This record gives sequence, C-alpha cells and structure tokens, in this order.
Amino acid sequence: MRKPIIAGNWKMHKTIAEATGLAAELAAAAAALDDVEVIVAPPFTALAGVVGALPADSALRVAAQNCYCEDKGAFTGEIAPSMLVDAGCSHVILGHSERRKIFGENDALINRKVHAALAAGLNVILCIGETLEEREQERMYDVLKTQVSEGLKGLAGEQLARVVIAYEPVWAIGTGRTATSDQAEEAHSFVRGLVGGLFGQSEAEAMRILYGGSVKPENIDGLMARENIDGALVGGASLQAEDFIRIMNFA
Ligand code: PGA
Repeated sequence: MRKPIIAGNWKMHKTIAEATGLAAELAAAAAALDDVEVIVAPPFTALAGVVGALPADSALRVAAQNCYCEDKGAFTGEIAPSMLVDAGCSHVILGHSERRKIFGENDALINRKVHAALAAGLNVILCIGETLEEREQERMYDVLKTQVSEGLKGLAGEQLARVVIAYEPVWAIGTGRTATSDQAEEAHSFVRGLVGGLFGQSEAEAMRILYGGSVKPENIDGLMARENIDGALVGGASLQAEDFIRIMNFA
C-alpha cells in the first residue's frame, strides 16, 4: 500500500550537460514503471536544466539537495524553497548527514527548513541516521528518536503526508559498507514506531521510509524485500544510468 520511492542523490557531481543527459535517460526508464516513484536530486546549477529537459508528463521527479528556511532576504549563498518550486522541483532533501556534519546543521535548523519547504509546497525527504560511534555506544535509538521528533516537530498530520524519511546510517554512506537488511529493517521498524507515537498509527503506516547508505544493484533486492523498507536514497550508484536503472527495477 506504500508506493516505493527510488531517489538518486547526485551530491556535488555533474555539469548541466551531464545532468540533463542522465536525467533524460532515467526518465525514459522511469516511464515504464508505474508502481515506483523515481526522483533525482541534481546540484542546484542543473535543476532548471534537468526540469526543462524532461517531458511535461515525465514520471521522473526532481529534488533539490538542500534549501534555506526563509522565503527571501539577505542570506548570501542560500536558496529559498520557493525558488526550488520556481525551478520545477517537487521535492527537497533535508538533514542529510553531510549537511549535519560538514556544515553544522542541527535538528532545530532542519526543522525550520522542513516547515519552510512544506509551506512552499515541496515534498520533503528528511534524512536521519546514527554515526558508527553512536551505534557502538548503543546510543542509536536515542539519536534516531531525537532526529525524528525534533525534525518533524510542529507538523500537522496533512503536512506529514508530504514527508518521506530516509534512514541513512552515517557509517554506511559512501563507505561501501551497507547495513544488512536485518539492521536496516530493525531501524526502519523503530522509526515507524516513533512516527506512530508522535502522530498516530495510520500516519505511521502511510509514511514511506527509505534506506540509504551504499545501496547498489547487488543489495537493493534484499533491502526492498523487507516489510518496513519502502525505497532507497542512492548516492554513488545513482551517478550512472545503468546502475540506477537496475536499482529502480528492483525485484
Ligand atoms: P551512497 O550515499 O549511496 O553513496 O552511500 C547515500 C547518500 O548519502 O544519500
């Protein structure tokens, strides 16, 4: 009943020409799939170009990788959610661990961004996940609980319907070390329980929870077979059409 999502996070990769070429190839492949939502997140500079290169009725949706929490003003270097809508984006990724770690974003800022993005009409992919140290110190559940409750703080039920959570254990991102499907399922089921406690059972049942962290053609099928894994947020393996098309065609 939850429609799966396969999303590609291109991070700081690809020129405008490379991005539009890849997106056109992926859009053709996504058009053949009606039971999965396919999203790509190019860098800011390529967003409008990618949207412009897609057919009007394209099955491929376009996300930004970040935005700010204000609609306009003196915020040098930042991008407003309404600018993403203007560029043709339907989604924005917020709270990615690289934003948290390298750029010092905390849960309070991420929550302001979630509110601003939803108010502008975007759908949000909210990333959460523990570091290796937090997992080894058995603080994983506390960390996930804080990230979910603070990240989603103050949202109304109908806003929650436009939020997707991506569980991305930091130790699995870009390391080649994927969480086992047991580890991912355990975390996803815990996160769904958190959403249920905060917003209610039916909201939790409807919430799509994606797994991210070294997702590849070789491990997607095992992950997608699990009850609480509703899709994937793919970094490295989304940069090349062949791998990503195989992932969106998971068994
Ligand atoms: P990865 O990145 O697939 O390269 O591990 C995932 C992500 O950071 O979203």
